[in-house]
Amino acid sequence: MNKLKNCSGCGRLYMEIGQGMCQDCYRKEQDDEQVVYSYVRDHDKCSVQEIVDGTGVKERVVLRMLKAGRFIASGLEINYPCQGCGTPITTGKLCSKCSSDIINQADRLKAARKVQKVDRSRTMYNSYRDK
Ligand SMILES: [Zn+2]
Ligand SMILES: [Zn+2]
Repeated sequence: MNKLKNCSGCGRLYMEIGQGMCQDCYRKEQDDEQVVYSYVRDHDKCSVQEIVDGTGVKERVVLRMLKAGRFIASGLEINYPCQGCGTPITTGKLCSKCSSDIINQADRLKAARKVQKVDRSRTMYNSYRDK
């Protein structure tokens, strides 16, 4: 069943048929994607910022293509910054370091609590000695 949705590109109401935006924006983005494709064909292993600067296509569009795996499918290696630390990565949202950081986060929180306890007792000891 079709339903009305707000276009992710221009915000107007449109009939959602699976493309995620209105016909106008969809057509425009398809044009943009062609521009990006021909750019990355000539500039192998470029960054998202280079694509944006080189084509004038919105970063949002380029990132959406990345997330959809468009470049990977065409065998191109595009790097973009890790959401955690900004290191250039070519797949996923985080670099391998940040993803393992997330896994270790619970452990690190526990460790941080231990350190706080130690600090408090040391402060008590110091203030006692200062008298
Ligand atoms: Zn639109
Ligand atoms: Zn990272």
